[in-house]
Amino acid sequence: MARKTHIAVIPSPGFSHLVPILEFTKRLVKNHPNFHVTCIIPSLGSPPDSSKSYLERIPPNINSIFLPPINKQDVPQGAYPGILIQLTVTLSLPSIHQALKTLNSKSPLVAIIADAFAFEALDFAKEFNSLSYLYFPSNAFVLSLVLEMPKLDEQVSCEYKDLQEPIGLLGCVPINGIDLPTPTKNRSSEAYKKYLQRAKGMYLVDGIIFNSFFELESSVIEALEQKGHGKISFFPVGPITQIGSSNNDDVIDELECLKWLKKQPQNSVLYVSFGSGGTLSQRQINELAFGLELSGQRFIWVLRAPSDSVSAAYLEATNEDPLKFLPNGFLERTKEKGFILPSWAPQIEILNQNSVGGFLSHCGWNSVLESIQEGVPIVAWPLFAEQAMNAVMLSDGLKVAIRLKYEDDEIVEKEKIAKVIKCVMEGEEGKGMRERMKSLKDSAANALKDDGSSIKSLAHLASHWGKFGGI
Ligand code: UDP
Repeated sequence: MARKTHIAVIPSPGFSHLVPILEFTKRLVKNHPNFHVTCIIPSLGSPPDSSKSYLERIPPNINSIFLPPINKQDVPQGAYPGILIQLTVTLSLPSIHQALKTLNSKSPLVAIIADAFAFEALDFAKEFNSLSYLYFPSNAFVLSLVLEMPKLDEQVSCEYKDLQEPIGLLGCVPINGIDLPTPTKNRSSEAYKKYLQRAKGMYLVDGIIFNSFFELESSVIEALEQKGHGKISFFPVGPITQIGSSNNDDVIDELECLKWLKKQPQNSVLYVSFGSGGTLSQRQINELAFGLELSGQRFIWVLRAPSDSVSAAYLEATNEDPLKFLPNGFLERTKEKGFILPSWAPQIEILNQNSVGGFLSHCGWNSVLESIQEGVPIVAWPLFAEQAMNAVMLSDGLKVAIRLKYEDDEIVEKEKIAKVIKCVMEGEEGKGMRERMKSLKDSAANALKDDGSSIKSLAHLASHWGKFGGI
């Protein structure tokens, strides 16, 4: 039997850092069966149900090693998710090293691929004479910014939010300092220091694999390649999304929300979700509820119990019943037009329904790609991380979204919510956005055809690894 090229993959905890890199791995093994992949999975305590059920479904052709969870007492309570995720990996480094050593002694590791938050594990690549790759689960626009961060840090003396002029990155839509990712909000914070450290670490890897496709960001990707960035090679391999939220079609067909959606007219329902962990304050939940009512549109809303921290549910689920936080009488008044899903939804299957005509989204990159793949225009409501950058790209750049902005007292008001929803769902502007989304949907599908740009990029990478491994 021919020897297989052995690769190690290291995700980081948090649904949207765990799933995309594992989906990438599935695609690699499916398209290139001469690869043998082992995933080394760190965790922070017991993962939320969403991650748990995903991990239970890793196919048998991908080996996985579950590392002992790190001790929760060793991480600061209530810290920003990015810090918790990175710290989990940092504290898992000894067990990652041990796992790599054992694997390499059985069959030499040609390459180690780590999620952006697990970049420190790539330091081990030299010891095993392996190539090192970063899996960046976002787009080329955000990647360009992160790579520029060390330079910006030297050149800019004030807080980024106080910059008078937008930042112009080669090939990218201009971006205001206020819309940069959350860790940059306070330059003396620990989160910023870690962000900068990650950015500098990127320059040490052999290549960066990212979840976008050439046709979506051609000017940005060309600029990345032109600029060179030392020895790094870039591989756009997206869109990489889950094939479906569940493997069990019968269970999915039985879901009440999908049965309800099937009865609604085409493009008439707005899907409302803030990702795997986004949360709103009680006041903002009220405002959104009234805004939905005022808009007069049909909606399906994934509702979570309120919190004053926008990322409260990101790494751990809460058990509270979210329905009790809705305004009095809301459920009764909207029962003909609305459907509320507590905490979690089969998102991909929902977006796939003909009746879904808009997505009010926090603009997490996975949600954006899933919306693009179904041609659904977006009402952009970014909360944290790099979501505001994604919103800028969608609204100012691609013109497939309208962005909702906070008023001075950090609330998005019901009148504005209703106006923007109506505009996307039934206005002329919305029509144009839907058409542009449909054309992005086609480009996304083309990128994944056998001769498509992303499949070629993956083949190029696989061939490089194969040669390096002498196969
Ligand atoms: N998701 C889901 N059901 C939910 C909420 C989220 O299936 O109720 C999935 C969604 O399809 C996406 C991922 O969780 O694949 C969320 O990732 P994203 O990057 O959009 O946001 P994040 O969770 O990182 O904020």
